[in-house]
Amino acid sequence: MGKKIRMRALIKSIGGILRTNLRCLGAGLYHLGLAHFVIGLSPNRVRTLLYHSTDSAPDAHIAGMNINVPPETLAVHLDYVKKHYSVVSIDDVTHGLYGPKPLVITFDDGYKSVETQAVPLLEARDLPATVYLIGTAVIGNMVWVNELNYALVTHTQKIERILSDYPSLAGLDRSGVIQTVQDTFSPSDIELLMYRIENELPEKANCPMLFSDADGVQRMRQRGISFGFHTRDHYNLRNCGPAMLERQLNPRFIQSLLNSNTFAYPFGYFTDIAIHSLESYGYEALMTVSDNTASASLLHRDRSEVRATSAAMMFAQLEIEEPAMALLHSVKRWVARRIQPAFPALLSPETSKPR
Ligand SMILES: [Zn+2]
Repeated sequence: MGKKIRMRALIKSIGGILRTNLRCLGAGLYHLGLAHFVIGLSPNRVRTLLYHSTDSAPDAHIAGMNINVPPETLAVHLDYVKKHYSVVSIDDVTHGLYGPKPLVITFDDGYKSVETQAVPLLEARDLPATVYLIGTAVIGNMVWVNELNYALVTHTQKIERILSDYPSLAGLDRSGVIQTVQDTFSPSDIELLMYRIENELPEKANCPMLFSDADGVQRMRQRGISFGFHTRDHYNLRNCGPAMLERQLNPRFIQSLLNSNTFAYPFGYFTDIAIHSLESYGYEALMTVSDNTASASLLHRDRSEVRATSAAMMFAQLEIEEPAMALLHSVKRWVARRIQPAFPALLSPETSKPR
């Protein structure tokens, strides 16, 4: 067991060094003026970007979660993609309506900052995008992840007293608590935890509007934004039983707001049962996070979370680092399938970034 863990740690460390070098290589190629040439080497690969909030100064519901791209950085990204790609909607992609160098822009969760900050930037550049909505957030409820983050940031001591009742959360920092809850807590465990936490938050009733409501969605639709589904409550689908899974995946109560027949997994996590259920709903694309090329559905579309602050680093991520790492992962899976009995540590489970 110790050897296995050490082997994985070594592979992870080599992977980190490799990624850094690939990014440096990519930035170098960009500054040599080779971006157009390199992008043209894979003209049919659909690049898909994933964003969340786009706030100038994110508050405690988002701060520290590593999901915010400020509008000035987003503008740099949009100028870059406008110059180098053919930006199309996800539905054009699913229907095969795109030319060379296609790129899709998506936003998960439906944050209000997308409506106020990102949409004007997209509109000014005439770029389409799709927002994936959380059902209960659209009708005015706080999403548990944001509320937990807020509670941990603003009421640390009160919340630590509650968390001390949960051995698996003891001693963890803010991001460790959120990661553990999203990975291991069932929806009912989360509901109970959040019920206890909400009772400790005196200002809950005055929570600022974090997500766009139905009116905001309609306004964005009129400005050319399309909307797909991102579950009812944003739970990790791996921790949902059959009844909860059906509750999370059925889009009926915000169906009238959706005009993209596509779905995005919360945190990028999925299961075979979830895939089967989503396929039965007739979705035309299931949006994952990061490299999931070994996954079990032809409807899966990997997305890149871009936080680079320059066009060069964005190019490096999209065109050098991620394609090279995806190739490496494919080779690793191929090798691991064949020699797994001798070297089991090489076959690490597929994971997605937690968002
Ligand atoms: Zn999400």
